[in-house]
Amino acid sequence: MVYIGIDLGGTNIAAGIVNEEGKILVKESIPTGATRGYEEIVADMAHLSLSLLEKIGMTIDDVSSVGIGSPGSVDHKNGILIYSNNLTFRFAPLRTEMQKYINKNVYLENDANCATIAESIAGAGKGISDMVAITLGTGVGGGIIINQRIYRGFNGAGGELGHIVTHSKGVKCTCGRLGCFEAYASATALIRRTREEMSIHPESMITELCGGNPDKINAKTTFDAMHAGDPVGVALVDEFINELAEGISNIINTFMPEVLIIGGGVSKEGDTLLAPLRKLVTERTYGPEGVMKTRIEVAKMGNDAGIVGAAFICKVD
Ligand SMILES: [Zn+2]
Repeated sequence: MVYIGIDLGGTNIAAGIVNEEGKILVKESIPTGATRGYEEIVADMAHLSLSLLEKIGMTIDDVSSVGIGSPGSVDHKNGILIYSNNLTFRFAPLRTEMQKYINKNVYLENDANCATIAESIAGAGKGISDMVAITLGTGVGGGIIINQRIYRGFNGAGGELGHIVTHSKGVKCTCGRLGCFEAYASATALIRRTREEMSIHPESMITELCGGNPDKINAKTTFDAMHAGDPVGVALVDEFINELAEGISNIINTFMPEVLIIGGGVSKEGDTLLAPLRKLVTERTYGPEGVMKTRIEVAKMGNDAGIVGAAFICKVD
C-alpha cells in the first residue's frame, strides 16, 4: 500500500506518493492559486494526486490513506482548516471535500506537526518513542511525539514551542507576548540581531558580506562572518546558540525526550551549531550523573518533510 501526502502551502501545493518506508515514489507541485475558494483548491489537490498514481501505474485501490499538511490552525478531529495566513477561506472542510474525489481516510495536520511526524516515522527520530522537533525559520515551529503519537493538547493547539518565554521582559513576539523563544532563536531573530550589530559596528565583515545592504543579510551571513573569524560574527553566533540552548533546555526539562531534532536552514551548520549547543544544554538540563541525556540531532528529511509528514499523519494519530 502507498500513502498520498499533500503539502498545502500559500504559494505551491506539493503532492507525493509515499511508500511504507517513507520514500517518495513520485511527486509534483503546482501553484496554489491562494485567492481561490477551497473547493477549487481541493479539486486540484485530488486531480494532482490521481495523476501521480497513474504515472507509477497505481490506482486508488493501492492507497491506504490521504494526508494534508497546512500552515495555520487545523481542527484535526473534523478535518477542517480553520485559518491560514496565506489562504483566504476560513473553516474549510477539507476532509469531506477531498473524500468527494478520493474516498479514503483523509487526515489533516498543521505543517510544524507534519515536519515532526516525518522525522518520527522516517527521519532522525525513527523508532524513537518520545521525541521533540523544532524548526528554526521565520519563527520556531514545534512538534511533540509521546509514545509514538503526536501530542496536540486537548484542543489541538498544543506544541507551540516557539512561544515559551525565555526573557520575561524581552522583545515583542508576533504573538503579542514579550520575550518568546522564537523572538530570540528563529532565523528571523538572528537576522534582526545581525542588522543591529552591523549598524553599531560598520567595520565588521558583515557589512562586506551583505554588500552594505542590511536587507541582504540572512542567517548564513552571520555564520559566514563567524567562520571567517569576524569578532562581531563570533559574538552573534555565541549569543544565538546561548538563546537556542535556553529554550531547548526548557523543552527538555519538560518532556525529557530521547531525541530533540533541530530543522530549518540554520540546522545545516551541523557541528558548528551542535557541539556548543550540546554542551550548554547538558549543563542546563536535569538528570543525575551517569543517566542518559537527551540526544540533540539535526533533521534528516529536508524538503521531503512536508509530503512525507502529511502522508504519515495516519501513523501517529
Ligand atoms: Zn510568541
